[in-house]
Amino acid sequence: MIVPMSQHIGAPAKPIVRKGQEVVRGEPIAAPSGFVSVPMHAPLTGVVEKIDLALLADGTMGPAIYLRSYPGSSQEVLYGAPLDIETLQRDELIGAVQDTGMVGLGGAAFPTHVKLAVPKGKTVDTIIANGCECEPYLTTDHRLMLERMEDLFAGIEIALRATGAAQALIGIEENKPDAIKALRAAAPDDIPVRVVAVQTKYPQGAERMLIKALLKREVPSGGLPSDARVVVFNVATLAQIGYLLPRRQGLIERGVTITGPGIEKPGNYLIALGTPLRDVLEQVGLRDSARQVILGGPMMGQSMWSLDVPITKGISGVLVFTEAEIQARPTKVYPCIRCGQCVQACPAFLNPSRLGVLARKERYQLMEEQYYLNDCFECGGCAYACPSNIPLVQYFRMAKAKNRERKAAR
Ligand code: SF4
Ligand code: SF4
Repeated sequence: MIVPMSQHIGAPAKPIVRKGQEVVRGEPIAAPSGFVSVPMHAPLTGVVEKIDLALLADGTMGPAIYLRSYPGSSQEVLYGAPLDIETLQRDELIGAVQDTGMVGLGGAAFPTHVKLAVPKGKTVDTIIANGCECEPYLTTDHRLMLERMEDLFAGIEIALRATGAAQALIGIEENKPDAIKALRAAAPDDIPVRVVAVQTKYPQGAERMLIKALLKREVPSGGLPSDARVVVFNVATLAQIGYLLPRRQGLIERGVTITGPGIEKPGNYLIALGTPLRDVLEQVGLRDSARQVILGGPMMGQSMWSLDVPITKGISGVLVFTEAEIQARPTKVYPCIRCGQCVQACPAFLNPSRLGVLARKERYQLMEEQYYLNDCFECGGCAYACPSNIPLVQYFRMAKAKNRERKAAR
């Protein structure tokens, strides 16, 4: 297995093991290198083969710990010890969450403890548990809400204590009536939590959209949800905290939806972090007609050019398409006809058409300073709506990357 040191937003973790060292499943193998950073835990019982560069899903190379399992091991998680959460102060609680290595499992991979640490001078009155699937095809959150309710409510209680919020709302799209019913029935009386059904539409699972739908509050441009007195967590993140924290264990596996016409056995699978994508696909079976593998969902996911990348904390889905779907997609790009459909489609009220023109002229700084590029959360709605097939969201990702490069070079 390959455990990259950067599976989250923030500073990469630092290896604390050496080549040849034996590790136990669940044992910390890398330490955080700052507050906005998380540790990594061994996903298997075995030995450290090497510490070297590895190919990552974004196409870059990054440092990683390579582990080989002991075939005779039961792979039971033996690491960890009970933790009495009730006795912890708020800071201790946030530190304990950092120790679990938790990041947002919805795909953003932002360290969870950083979200729980409400910035000085701000107050949070509500936490939102995001039970809307982030994208079409993905169904792990839906299953989790039916199968791991106890963990989810435990995680909500921890998040309420850590943030000091007075209430929690679980926002679920109306097309999951079984989850809405089951969670309403199971909600404990001693936690101030309410299950709220929201309209089924993409991108309802985006933080800003959900805050607006549930609380009628708007996050200001360039601001954070805490500016609207809210913190949003994916339901899988909360359930995982609720499970790991009382056991003082680390994040070593996650639920992943593996689906698409190119997969023989589609489903939701619990996958050890660090498992090479190639091994995962061998297990679920690739059809002969499979041609394209996407990590994430169809709107925001990334097409892979190599299967030698590991499953990491932020990967919520693997989609495999066949030649038939690829052929059905329009590929030719036409000039912008000023139809305004992208403007209508943008949930962030941006002007994707204008941003697209500026991107083609490489006016990246202007895009950020005057056209609110950073408020784009890359939902892909504009590119989907565009009759000219202009790859708008790809332009915006590139523009943001160029702006980051420019700032780093200062
Ligand atoms: S990807 Fe397009 S539609 Fe989505 S937020 Fe960005 S500009 Fe708006
Ligand atoms: S949807 Fe496409 S063609 Fe229409 S205004 Fe936007 S960029 Fe131009």
